[in-house]
Amino acid sequence: MEGGMISVDQWAKGSQAYFLTHLHSDHTRGLSSTWSNGPLFCSRTTAKLFPLKFPDFNFAFLRIVEIGSWHRLSLSSPSTGSPASIQFMPIDAFHCPGAVMFLFRGVFGHVLYTGDFRWEETGERSVKAKNMLIDALNGANVDVLYLDNTYCNPVYCFPIREVATQQVIEIIASHPEHDIVIGIDSLGKEDLLLEISRCLKMKIWVWPERLQTMHLLGYPDIFTTRTSLTRVRAVPRYSFSINTLEGLNATKPTIGIMPSGLPWVSKPFEGKNKKGFSLSVASKNRRILTSNGTRVDLNMRSVEKVQNHIFSVPYSDHSCYREIKDFVWLVKPYNVKGIVSMSSCYVNPVYYLSHLFSSNRASQSTCLDPEICEEVEMKGKTKRTNFTGTGRKKRTTEANFLGVRIRRVSILRQINRGVKIVECDSPD
Ligand SMILES: [Zn+2]
Repeated sequence: MEGGMISVDQWAKGSQAYFLTHLHSDHTRGLSSTWSNGPLFCSRTTAKLFPLKFPDFNFAFLRIVEIGSWHRLSLSSPSTGSPASIQFMPIDAFHCPGAVMFLFRGVFGHVLYTGDFRWEETGERSVKAKNMLIDALNGANVDVLYLDNTYCNPVYCFPIREVATQQVIEIIASHPEHDIVIGIDSLGKEDLLLEISRCLKMKIWVWPERLQTMHLLGYPDIFTTRTSLTRVRAVPRYSFSINTLEGLNATKPTIGIMPSGLPWVSKPFEGKNKKGFSLSVASKNRRILTSNGTRVDLNMRSVEKVQNHIFSVPYSDHSCYREIKDFVWLVKPYNVKGIVSMSSCYVNPVYYLSHLFSSNRASQSTCLDPEICEEVEMKGKTKRTNFTGTGRKKRTTEANFLGVRIRRVSILRQINRGVKIVECDSPD
């Protein structure tokens, strides 16, 4: 794929089409309400949330694309001016509401951009996304995989979110006299909050902008901005700090919970009050039944008390190392590029995963089978049409995948070691 054709989560001028994987700030940097660089493709849920983040955006530029459908885009080659057609499919990334990966295909082969993603092996949505990707690839390998490598290191081993959710619930239930504050971003972890509300039969406080988001997502009755109605408050991550918790405890016993795949502080709390880590189930070998019917160890040992009033729970919307490995094994890429280029935990995916890559690239052929797909108008609405491709084409040239303008998510991927976090949306 030539440069100057498409950009994913990257917003500089010069591309013919732009793709947004999700609305976290580290993927929208450079995007603004005055956007006019070209059509912007995103999922329906992202489009619904878009006005909250970019209230004056000219929505004539927004193109909603359906998850699981192939869409065709007619572009032109910047070098020759000749028509160049690509197809793409959004696939559920199971990260935050609206998050998708984009699978592109064309004469260049298959390029998969994961954005931020969680590749859990259990759960209806995960299985559906997996089958969708397998069907879309139809036996082909991925030529270039742009991978969420946030936790692409064997040290990052954390449970599925269903388990981490139960850990959070156990902490809350074990502190019936405490107020609870949970650090979250402006988007994401809704399922955690919904499950807390459902299991403990209580409303959850959120700040006013977050309540708007919850209403747009269709949760009108569970969340409130009235502190008198609940003892559980989901607060902006940037306001969550040791100082905040100490201040709150000066007036009322309060527990802080930070759901994150990253260690929230450099090492677990070792203060004299560590005996305060007295969860009702901490010493029990308890197992929970997950939604797919398997029993999993609740493993409260993976919960860390990082300060006198704060618990760090390994709840993450990014894939852990094992899931990344499974994913790479599934798509068998020829080339992998991490989208997280600077981080305290950064590891080039090639370091650990190269043995899972494909090597026999020359034997592969591009799949452009004729089939139904969505024709995407660059200047108008989408319409359904029969796409007659050129049949199975033999790929004959090495495409310049590096020409695809992909945002390298950068410095936001940092551990904040126990002090106030200044950025709103950071990896977790
Ligand atoms: Zn994200």
